[in-house]
Amino acid sequence: MLFVRSVRQCVEAGLVDGAKVHLDGSLIDADASRESVLKADAETIARIKAAFAVQERKLDESKPPSARCETNRRLVSTTDPDAPCVAKGANSGAARPRYKHHRMVDDRCGVITAVATTPGDVAEPVQTQPLLAQHQVNTASEVTAVVADRQYGTVENYCELVAQGIRPHMAPMMPADHKSEGRFTKADFLYDPGRDQYVCPAGQRLVPKRKHPHRQMTDYVAPAKVCAACPLRERCTTSKRGRSVARHSQEALLERAHALTRTAEARADRRRRQHLMEGSFAQAANRHHFKRARWRRLWRQQIQDWLIAAVQNIARLCGAVSADIPARLPRKPLAAGRAVDIGPSGLVAQRRHRTLSTELVCRNTAGSAIAA
Ligand code: SF4
Repeated sequence: MLFVRSVRQCVEAGLVDGAKVHLDGSLIDADASRESVLKADAETIARIKAAFAVQERKLDESKPPSARCETNRRLVSTTDPDAPCVAKGANSGAARPRYKHHRMVDDRCGVITAVATTPGDVAEPVQTQPLLAQHQVNTASEVTAVVADRQYGTVENYCELVAQGIRPHMAPMMPADHKSEGRFTKADFLYDPGRDQYVCPAGQRLVPKRKHPHRQMTDYVAPAKVCAACPLRERCTTSKRGRSVARHSQEALLERAHALTRTAEARADRRRRQHLMEGSFAQAANRHHFKRARWRRLWRQQIQDWLIAAVQNIARLCGAVSADIPARLPRKPLAAGRAVDIGPSGLVAQRRHRTLSTELVCRNTAGSAIAA
């Protein structure tokens, strides 16, 4: 595949570190208007989607949007049934058919090492592990740190990454000094692992009371009478049933993850992410019409995303190569079609015009050409 080949050429050229990666996702407008969206009851929409599935076998390659979003059970675009209706944000107008592009970018030079395309209503955090696996295959390297924005900081992501020995450098879910309107936070309660209880600032014990199996959480609660008579009550709770503190079954991993998100390195990585990741998306949008689908159906959108990512990698490779070229080029411009050997990676660059690095053509040792 062209995209994978572009990643491997960047690895060979030394543009990929492999250990630290940046993650983000972006919505893409499908090639379908809002007028193409039908609204009906869930049963009718399911029948329409089934009819599309029979009509086009390729639909089997993607999950129908109704599998993820309750709203889209009653909506379908007759132009592109793979694209569920999604709004960009609270103040961004009405929802319309959209896909979502998920991208992993290497920290060293911004090479795109993994991409995925999903219907627009797929949450970004669930793509973390698939993208990590793709990155490790494409670059043959082990990831040690993942940088992403706050929405990737889910409990599942934190626990999985820390269990894998990967540092999560996402923005913390809450600031370190968060005090919940000035009241005691969970950090003010000490956990006693021997008795599986919390000790509150007044020295009282909170015992496990309510379990939430689907969230893997347990509520530890202080007796209501004790809290009602507590002199610290004003600073602790307004509940008449006593103060409670929630604990996850993987709390030790979560605490480790939260500590890692607050390191100086994590903060620096998040600042770097702003221009590295956003710059990658901006370049795709400004130069390659990334924000709008050219074709319909999910599998075609996947091709568009692969192509754009490959072209961006090749442009980056050519840019890095061209930075070395002035020292190697003779003073006089080369005649068109003449090649210059640029190093042990086997790449050959050919300059058609002296000014634009994007005019470079990279060739591998087998002689096949990829034009940026
Ligand atoms: S209100 Fe209850 S939980 Fe809070 S400090 Fe007082 S006794 Fe402890």
